[in-house]
Amino acid sequence: LPFCRSLPKVELHAHLINGSVDPVTLQELGCMETSILDYIKLASLSNNTSRALDECFDLFRIAHNATNTPQAVHLATRRVIEDFDKDNVIYLELRTTPRAEQGMTKQEYVEAIVTAIKEYQGDVLVKLILSINRSHDAKACQDSLDVILKKKKLYPDIIKGIDLSGNPKVGGFDSYIFKTARENGLYTTIHCGEVKNDGEVTDILGFKPDRIGHGNFVHPDYGGCQENWELLCEKRVPVECCLTSNVMTNTTRNYSEHHVKELISSGLPYTISTDDKGVFLTDLSREYSHLYDDHALTKEALWKVSFNSVDYSFASSAEKSLLKSKMIEWKRDNE
Ligand code: IMP
Repeated sequence: LPFCRSLPKVELHAHLINGSVDPVTLQELGCMETSILDYIKLASLSNNTSRALDECFDLFRIAHNATNTPQAVHLATRRVIEDFDKDNVIYLELRTTPRAEQGMTKQEYVEAIVTAIKEYQGDVLVKLILSINRSHDAKACQDSLDVILKKKKLYPDIIKGIDLSGNPKVGGFDSYIFKTARENGLYTTIHCGEVKNDGEVTDILGFKPDRIGHGNFVHPDYGGCQENWELLCEKRVPVECCLTSNVMTNTTRNYSEHHVKELISSGLPYTISTDDKGVFLTDLSREYSHLYDDHALTKEALWKVSFNSVDYSFASSAEKSLLKSKMIEWKRDNE
C-alpha cells in the first residue's frame, strides 16, 4: 500500500542482529565469518514460508555466527538502520542482547552498536534497548545487567531501556533485574504471553512494565485467562504487536484473527512492529498494510497508530514533540 510506505512510522520492537539483518548483508558478512554449511542452511530456510518458533531460534544462531567481531556488528547495525530509514521510519528503537564472543566482550559489542547509531547521518532517530535473555542463568543475567547499567551511564541519550526476550519456552521473568534497571532510570519492556504461561503473565503485568512484547496469550479467546485480560485492561500497558512474526511462528492463526483485534475493539494501547524483519522477510510498511487489509483500519486510523506510538516510545519529551510535529506536518501535506 503506497500510503503505508510513505507514512512516517515508529518502530518500537525490532531485534537487531539476530532478527533484523537482511539475508544479503548476512551473506556478505558470512563471506568472512560463516561456514559454508550455515550458508546452505540459511538459504534453505529462507525459502520456507512458515517457520515454527524453534526453527526461528535456530536461524537466530546463524546471524550470531556471522557477527562475532565488533566490525561485523557495526556494519550489521548500520545496514539495519538504513533499511528502516528507507522505509520512512522516523523513530527506531533497536533491541539487542549484549553478547561476548572469542574476540569481543559484551562491552565492545554494545560499543560497536552505539558507535554505528551515533555515526548515522540519515533521517531516523535511533535509540537502543538492551535485552536480558531469559534462557541465560542468573549469573549471566546479572553480568549483562552490570554491562547495561554501565553503558547506560555513558550513553544516557541512546540507551533508553531494558527488555526480557529469548525463547519463551525456556527460563522466566526475574523481577529483581527489572526493578534494579528501573531504579537506575531505564524504561522496561518485557516479552509477555508469547506462549501460554498465565502465572508469568500475571507477574509481568503486576510489575507494570512500560510496554509488553507480543501478548498473544492474554485474552481468554486466545488461550489466556480472564484475570490477566482484566489486569491488562486495568494497567493499560501498551502492547507491541508483531503480526507477521506471530503468523510465521504459528503463535496466531492468521493475520485477521490476530489478537490485535481485541486490543483495537477494546481501545487498549498498542503499537505495530516488525520483530525480526530479516528472518520474516517483512518491513514496517507491510505490517501497517495488514492493519488496513485484515483489520479494516482506515488510513486516518493507521496514522493515529503511528502517532500514538510516539507516546509509548522511550524518547525524551522534546524528541516526542518534534516527532509529533513531523507527523502532523506530513498529515497536513497528504490530506
Ligand atoms: P540480538 O540480541 O540482536 O541478536 O537479537 C536476537 C535475539 O532476540 C534472539 O536471539 C532472541 O533472544 C531474541 N528474539 C528475537 N525474536 C524473538 C521473539 O520473537 N521472541 C523472543 N525473543 C526473540
